[in-house]
Amino acid sequence: MFIDIQNMSFAYSNSSTNAIENFTLTVNKGEIISILGRSGSGKSTILRLIAGLEMPKGGSFTLGDKKVFDDYTFVQPEKRGIGMVFQDYALFPHMSVTDNVLFGLPKMSRNDKLKRVKEVLELVELDGYEKRYPHQLSGGQQQRVALARAIAPQPELILLDEPFSNLDTDLLVKIREDLRRILKKANATAIFVTHNQNDAHALADRIVKIKDGLIDQVGRPCDLLGSP
Ligand code: ADP
Ligand code: ADP
Repeated sequence: MFIDIQNMSFAYSNSSTNAIENFTLTVNKGEIISILGRSGSGKSTILRLIAGLEMPKGGSFTLGDKKVFDDYTFVQPEKRGIGMVFQDYALFPHMSVTDNVLFGLPKMSRNDKLKRVKEVLELVELDGYEKRYPHQLSGGQQQRVALARAIAPQPELILLDEPFSNLDTDLLVKIREDLRRILKKANATAIFVTHNQNDAHALADRIVKIKDGLIDQVGRPCDLLGSP
């Protein structure tokens, strides 16, 4: 088991009820998981807990061979080896595509860095776009740069927050397919949250349905019935 999260609970400090109750999930290496639920169901909170941006009340979380959280352990976000792709892609507007991807890379020689940037830009089919700035790219291309930046340091896990929310419907189908192909080719383990059942079904190997901070259903897309 690559990811093992057991009974993770969480309450916001100004609230008497738990926003997340006993969240339990195991994930294999290379698997793509969708967390599906209505607005306010707790999706972002779960991502923030996994990323280490919030401290759980209890439970445990192991990532690869690393204990990330339990009663005695809290690994800081930057030490977790987790890549994030935000809703708005959060590219640096004043940096070229190359510099945006370079930014996330750990300490290595300039040459090795540039080699890695070339590799990931080929993977997302953006070779030739190195010198462009984010405003000179389409929405789909910006998303692929954000993905390239998240993948470049070879993180153990990639988290994606509503990755399709800013895309036109005519682009959506192609971009969903691209995203799945890129993640699979990189053998990346990914968790993405969405309120959109179609997106979850198109991209995920397994879907975790969330309702009011609780897991409602877990299964392969073909095994799940009903709307979120
Ligand atoms: P989703 O991402 O599914 O829309 P969230 O994880 O953002 O849901 O929210 C889950 C619950 O936690 C909601 O009831 C929301 O109102 C509450 N919540 C979210 N952020 C905060 C916060 N900073 N302080 C207090 N309550 C919050
Ligand atoms: P995609 O299918 O990836 O979203 P589009 O059909 O939106 O691509 O864009 C087609 C082409 O137009 C792309 O090569 C893109 O780089 C270019 N393009 C889109 N927006 C701009 C812009 N604001 N400035 C320069 N080129 C752009």
